[in-house]
Order: sequence, then C-alpha cells, then structure tokens
Amino acid sequence: MVLPMVDQHKPKCYLCSNVFENLEELRRHQEVDHKEFVEFHKNDHSPAPGDVTVF
Ligand SMILES: [Zn+2]
Repeated sequence: MVLPMVDQHKPKCYLCSNVFENLEELRRHQEVDHKEFVEFHKNDHSPAPGDVTVF
C-alpha cells in the first residue's frame, strides 16, 4: 500500500485533516465548516472591547 504524496508546504486543517492550496483557502474553509470553533477561539484570544456580557 502506497500512501499518496502530501505536500508538506500546504496548510492542513487540524480539525478535519483536509489539505488546502494556501492559508487563505484554509481560513475560508474553517470559517465555513468550523464556524463555531473559529468564533470560539476568536473570542478566547481577543475579546472585543465593546462586548459586554450581562448575567
Ligand atoms: Zn476543516
């Protein structure tokens, strides 16, 4: 069994292991297919100054 050649330089989605031509396509893919995950990390790393949560 021969594994297909994988271009190491191409970005790989760590969520679903899909390989993309460039970072732009990877980012676009994650924003669509992993929207909730991307949004979660955006909030986690850089909370919006005007985002106030009221309990
Ligand atoms: Zn993915």
